Amino acid sequence: MMSKIIVAGEYRENELRNVSLEAIAAAKQWEPSSEVVAVLLGNGVQDHAQKMFQYGADRAILLESPTFSRVTAEAYTQALLQVIESEQPKGIILGHTSLGKEIAPRLAGRLNAGLLSDVTSIEGEGKDAQFVRPIYSGKAFEKRQAKTEKVFVTIRPNNIELLPLDPLRSGDISTHTVELTDLRVTIKEVVRKAATGVDLSEAKVVVSGGRGIKGEEGLALLQQLADALGGAVGASRGACDAGYCDYALQIGQTGKVVTPDLYIACGISGAIQHVAGMSNSKTIVAINKDPEANIFSIADYGIVGDLFEVVPILIEEFNKIVVS
Ligand code: FAD
Repeated sequence: MMSKIIVAGEYRENELRNVSLEAIAAAKQWEPSSEVVAVLLGNGVQDHAQKMFQYGADRAILLESPTFSRVTAEAYTQALLQVIESEQPKGIILGHTSLGKEIAPRLAGRLNAGLLSDVTSIEGEGKDAQFVRPIYSGKAFEKRQAKTEKVFVTIRPNNIELLPLDPLRSGDISTHTVELTDLRVTIKEVVRKAATGVDLSEAKVVVSGGRGIKGEEGLALLQQLADALGGAVGASRGACDAGYCDYALQIGQTGKVVTPDLYIACGISGAIQHVAGMSNSKTIVAINKDPEANIFSIADYGIVGDLFEVVPILIEEFNKIVVS
């Protein structure tokens, strides 16, 4: 019998998260001949299922519930348990997002299944597949194999390459009404703190500011650079502690982990706890007035200078390229 892998689709503000598409590619790498079943919780999410088909999913299950309005981890856990019990997949892949980090261990614990978390690549396939994940704040990588019959995997956003888009691809969608019982928590209201725009953890370009940005005006300058590059703004804890920006922007060991194609660190010294959240970025550019700053030791390109002089020049030049 063909093995099955469930990919839990996650969306925010009606936008399917890229990591859910990367999870489909991960499923096909792990078990190339498996059936990939996309599971989405929420009412009216057919468009997300279609997108998941176009990126390689074979079938979709939409879970609807009249009692649910916003996804809580508890509701997701209950709903996914019901699908897992009826589908009996070999693997369940989720994004290593706040939601994925909360749900995967709950489910794995309840089902006595293995859990491989924060996976950045998969080597080999089938039962020989090895799941690569960073350890010691990104200083080393380990390869793990799971021995249980069912395995949960969470994948780090921006690491596994998408399967090619096939706009003509489609699949069967079935809709199930799920019973959500005895929910201990329901969300009444969501008050957004962080700025809207490009999602930091999935951004291809991140412009990050440290204590060197000196205040909110410095942050606004970085936002202009991020806008010119279609990216998102991040920050060091130094900048957050100084009150220049919200902690939602913090990157590092106790903040978000990002893996963009381009990371521009402005006025950040490069403390080990910050580096833990960005060292896997594909290209790192550092702008710092101190030539001895540690950030230069991990940067691909370094600019020694005052960020208030360098960043405006970059904004002007990038805007020229985009316009022309
Ligand atoms: P600083 O170290 O003060 O560096 C500021 C830099 O800006 C300097 O290098 C300076 O040369 C440069 N600069 C100043 N003015 C300019 C200018 N005009 N132009 C160019 N450059 C300029 N930190 C994180 O970032 N993320 C975390 O998740 C995190 N978690 C932590 C967890 C623990 C348990 C602990 C103990 C610490 C943690 N930290 C974290 C804090 C970390 O140790 C550093 O204190 C912090 O990263 C420093 O922030 P910074 O680089 O912005 O500030």
